[in-house]
Amino acid sequence: MNNTYYGKLIFELSKPGRKGYSLPKNELSEYSTAQLPENLLRVEEPALPEVDELTVVRHYTNMSNNNFGVDTGFYPLGSCTMKYNPKINEEIAAHPEFTGLHPLQNVETVQGALAVYYQLQRSLSEIAGMSEFTLNPFAGAHGELTGLMVIRSYHMSRGDAKRTKIIVPDSAHGTNPASAAVCGLDVVEVKSKPDGRVDVEDLKPLLDDTIAGMMMTNPNTLGLFENNIAEIAKLVHDCGGLMYYDGANLNPMLGKCRPGDIGFDVMHINLHKTFSTPHGGGGPGSGPIGVREGLEQFLPNPRVTCDFNEDGMVDYKIDMGEESLGSISGFLGNFGIMMRALTYIVTLGSDNLKWVGPLATLNANYIKESLKDCYELPIEGVCKHEFVFDGLKDKSTGVTTLDVAKRLLDYGYHAPTIYFPLLFHQALMIEPTENESKETLDGFIEVMKKIAQEAKDDPELVKTAPHTTPVRRLDDTKAALKQIVTWNELCAVEEL
Ligand SMILES: *Cc1c(COP(=O)(O)O)cnc(C)c1O
Repeated sequence: MNNTYYGKLIFELSKPGRKGYSLPKNELSEYSTAQLPENLLRVEEPALPEVDELTVVRHYTNMSNNNFGVDTGFYPLGSCTMKYNPKINEEIAAHPEFTGLHPLQNVETVQGALAVYYQLQRSLSEIAGMSEFTLNPFAGAHGELTGLMVIRSYHMSRGDAKRTKIIVPDSAHGTNPASAAVCGLDVVEVKSKPDGRVDVEDLKPLLDDTIAGMMMTNPNTLGLFENNIAEIAKLVHDCGGLMYYDGANLNPMLGKCRPGDIGFDVMHINLHKTFSTPHGGGGPGSGPIGVREGLEQFLPNPRVTCDFNEDGMVDYKIDMGEESLGSISGFLGNFGIMMRALTYIVTLGSDNLKWVGPLATLNANYIKESLKDCYELPIEGVCKHEFVFDGLKDKSTGVTTLDVAKRLLDYGYHAPTIYFPLLFHQALMIEPTENESKETLDGFIEVMKKIAQEAKDDPELVKTAPHTTPVRRLDDTKAALKQIVTWNELCAVEEL
């Protein structure tokens, strides 16, 4: 596309004196400026773009067309669960009765919002098999940190200060060791077996009275169910540690399997993955954490509880627990995200929620089996909601996973997750989610096969992809190290 507006910054469209607004006459001008101290007044006009309304509309519409999202196309980004965000969630969350609330309002005036909060706490507890949830954390990693703080508080409450180590499998999401380090715990790595599961024999010698607990993702980041979970949980419990469940990947378990029933004590859930709230681009998230019975008192403040008042009516309260680990967020967390998540749970209902996991699993296995002749499948067998290829099967072409990911952009697909987990050199991690139709999956499979063929016939074509995107292949390192984020900096670069 090539028009006056496309690919330009709004500053480049600016013409001196051009206006897209008209303000009512300021009746107070005499007073309003007179009261500001001289040193706070502007000397020069701010350097804002000067554009008419239609230019603004075209500029932002063109920009939005450059965006790729779940609403524009297939987004098989492994470990990220890019499922459809139902529009009814947005409608309910945007209701003025909710958006107009202030967090410092009296509790009597926000009973409805607290009911939403409380109901979501209860729904998640039921879904996960936990005793209680807090919705305070703002993201998965934030939930991990909070959960690990619960584990630490538990050990400290028993006067057991020597438990400073946490076991994390080598296949774990990078946030696991990072959260543990932020929490002041020492990370001990446990290896995976060739079948991609935690090596119990490697785990055993690590267990002693310095272990605070173990973090696990199940299904793990290879999309494989940890079959030995019961034995692992027993070993860790026997040595006095607690089991932490990274529930960012709860999607395939929904309604089928509860972390609380398979030995986990503390866990987080990503509402912005499993429970359909939008994410990506660092947008608002929510990482509620749940605990089993006996650990509730350590959950962060403030907490939403409920009681019955004298008239027998439900009375929601905001409590401050005395044994709590403290506060980890401003107020009660990201309320708009909770509204969306509860809407999702209620609109699906418990019967339909049970279909999420099986359908996500079916879709992932369908893609895996359809492509394993062209892409290397390092671990055979049934996967859960996602799986990992180790690059193209034919390694002689020199075409890498990065090249395949870039070429997919030319065909209008978002790339899968690449080079994660770190267990394989050419990892290509695909997660289709439960929402996609057979036609969408077939379209993706066809394109992936086509790219594998191109890699044989014309490897340069794939190595130099993408060819049709607004910008071609970026220098990833430079893009990260030398970010140009302001108009002034860009001018300075152009002048050089
Ligand atoms: C996404 C993810 C996380 C981190 O969640 P954020 O909300 O991005 O902090 C942790 N663990 C796993 C397995 C994940 O997929």
